[in-house]
Amino acid sequence: MSANAVVIGAGVAGLTTAVCLAESGTKVRVDADLAPGETTSAAAGAMWDPYLAEPRDLVERWALATLSELTALSSGQDTGIRMVEGTQESRTPCPLPAWGSAVGARPCPPEELRNGFVTGWRYRAPVVDMPRYLDYLARRLVQAGGSFRRHRYETVAQAMREAPVVVNCSGSGARTLAGDPEVEAVRGQLVVVENPGIESFFCDDTPEADELTYIYPHSGTVVLGGTSDRGDWDVTPRDSVADRIVRRCVAVEPSLAGARVLGQRVGLRPVRSSVRLTEDRHEGGLLVHNYGHGGAGVTLSWGCAREVLRRVRDSGLTN
Ligand SMILES: Cc1cc2nc3c(=O)[nH]c(=O)nc-3n(C[C@H](O)[C@H](O)[C@H](O)COP(=O)(O)OP(=O)(O)OC[C@H]3O[C@@H](n4cnc5c(N)ncnc54)[C@H](O)[C@@H]3O)c2cc1C
Repeated sequence: MSANAVVIGAGVAGLTTAVCLAESGTKVRVDADLAPGETTSAAAGAMWDPYLAEPRDLVERWALATLSELTALSSGQDTGIRMVEGTQESRTPCPLPAWGSAVGARPCPPEELRNGFVTGWRYRAPVVDMPRYLDYLARRLVQAGGSFRRHRYETVAQAMREAPVVVNCSGSGARTLAGDPEVEAVRGQLVVVENPGIESFFCDDTPEADELTYIYPHSGTVVLGGTSDRGDWDVTPRDSVADRIVRRCVAVEPSLAGARVLGQRVGLRPVRSSVRLTEDRHEGGLLVHNYGHGGAGVTLSWGCAREVLRRVRDSGLTN
């Protein structure tokens, strides 16, 4: 199909952006060398959490816009999103995060904290079963008239020959596609186990912690995390890493001991000093970059997609 807009990338950034464009009446096609289920987005845990992303003021706005959209979607049957209550806890004293009020966070009294933790807060936030959520977004895109093509671009200039508007949502692929050496992969590995009956999430938020520990319950499964290895581009799961993740999670949540392991997931967080949401005019065409969301791509997805939509509308190129 010929398109008025091409979105490069079928992860959460690309699909959300494409849905916004298609639902506003733009003829949009998603071109990507990896299908939604093969992306980093499909590997994510995932929770709403504005984790270490910059620029701070915009991130806050994008995160809040996404929070209200994900919260609204959690009441749908087939979105993969549920509102879950749980705690973030730290082994050393630390302040309530700035975004705490947005999710109704309240400090945990000492008797609510797990062994070894001294501070914590309890709140309710969207937990996203990413493979299901990406399927939902893909269906919603097709319903709005959008389409997909498996295709790899070597340069963004090649994509500019396909449509007047191109949105670059290539995640860590932007390092080569957009020639942006600031983009680095931060490898993350997770373990998926059968749910022994866990209903609350847990996240170790100790600022000085060397390793990540988190537990995100979905309906029948629990995602156990995780790792964060800068500059490691290898997406093959490592059993020794998985064993360590399970051990750390069992130490804080003993009911996980012996839970059947169903799978492992690995993704590459597209980390950058700050999210790149910028535009370039190219010989009568518009190129908008939307990548570099690091460990918060799900959390920022709707806010960033709406910002892209605004810029595309203002260009007048898809009318
Ligand atoms: C283990 C783990 C846990 C995480 N947990 C969370 C969480 O709890 N909450 C949260 O908000 N975030 C989380 N994240 C971060 C989040 O997953 C990422 O920020 C997000 O997935 C990035 O999405 P994206 O669409 O930009 O990139 P991706 O999902 O990587 O998609 C990139 C797309 O671009 C395509 N592409 C790239 N280069 C080219 C090219 N040259 N030609 C054509 N197509 C191309 C790819 O094929 C792919 O379709 C986690 C990440 C990991 C790894």
